[in-house]
Amino acid sequence: MTATPKLSVAIPVYNEQEVIPELLRRVTSALDTLPGGPHQVVLVDDGSSDNSLEILQQAASEDERLVVVSFSRNFGQQPAYAAALEYVEGDAVIMMDGDLQDPPEQIAALLQKYNEGYDVVYAIRVNRKENFVKRICYNVFYRVIQRLSSTPLPRDSGDFSIISRRVVNLLVHDADRHRYLRGIRSWVGFKQTGLEVERNERNAGETKYTLRKLLRLASDGIFSFSLIPLRLATLIGSLSVIVALLLAAFAVYAKLTPIDKLPGFIQEIPPGFTALIVAISFFAGVQLMFLGVVGEYVGRVFEEVKGRPSFIVDQVIRNKTQWTPNTPTHTGNSTNTIGGGKADELTS
Ligand code: UDP
Ligand code: MG
Repeated sequence: MTATPKLSVAIPVYNEQEVIPELLRRVTSALDTLPGGPHQVVLVDDGSSDNSLEILQQAASEDERLVVVSFSRNFGQQPAYAAALEYVEGDAVIMMDGDLQDPPEQIAALLQKYNEGYDVVYAIRVNRKENFVKRICYNVFYRVIQRLSSTPLPRDSGDFSIISRRVVNLLVHDADRHRYLRGIRSWVGFKQTGLEVERNERNAGETKYTLRKLLRLASDGIFSFSLIPLRLATLIGSLSVIVALLLAAFAVYAKLTPIDKLPGFIQEIPPGFTALIVAISFFAGVQLMFLGVVGEYVGRVFEEVKGRPSFIVDQVIRNKTQWTPNTPTHTGNSTNTIGGGKADELTS
């Protein structure tokens, strides 16, 4: 780790045309105050349908510190981060959302902590400004995943962080298709610490994370970092077996005992009907539920086996020049594009 590392800032962008000018202004001026420059900003346009890409390309054609990578369609925020990490060239990399919820002015504080000898310094979100319901959901999620995960995942830390070059390389080479980067970031180990950073409101525009995308991110977090949902099936199944055995013993006892010797409450109810209905519907429900859980894991195995890339790159602008990669995908275990891109990609 160098004392004044060259920084790259990795930013995913999806329909953020209202924010981009302010974003670029604040990020570049934050970087200008830091030694070790010129630093770099890698923006990945995640298939925006507004003018985000044009604005970014225009900016990148005027400023060689900017790298703009565009996707062939919308792949999602995590793939956008993953792509950005393939194009960064810095000794240390800042991961930061593109809506200015993560304040660029805090980069200096992250860097200062990083220079104390950490590989990862992640921002811990304090004073979230989202609405009440969303805050409760985030809260529950981070607590649940912390309990379930086999890797310790720091609570309330998102993607905003500074990470060392070796961690970047590990994240890039991690072949998970369902990337939950903040999870893998924690999983790689080394010296990590958190820094409390206030999370602002989004600068302009609406959230680009629909409820569906948010739930998918949450399930990626849970299912790729925990086997406990599967173990729960064994546990609840075992408990069910015990209950079923008790019921069976009772049924045999009731069958063999003359009716007038049975306790009063059994003599009155039509024998077995209620218990039967309750047991059948309950166990059918439990089985279906865990079939779904098993299905989640099988689905993930399926996705991994197919080995499709998690994103496809359309265009890249670097050093003010635009090119179209001949190898637009990287599957995580391919060679990195550090240092001007691979030879076949420089042909346009
Ligand atoms: N984003 C993206 N692709 C998507 C959704 C979001 O690249 O499909 C980007 C978005 O532009 C922003 C960051 O990911 O820079 C975080 O998204 P957002 O602020 O909408 O999520 P929230 O902060 O509301 O959870
Ligand atoms: Mg946001």
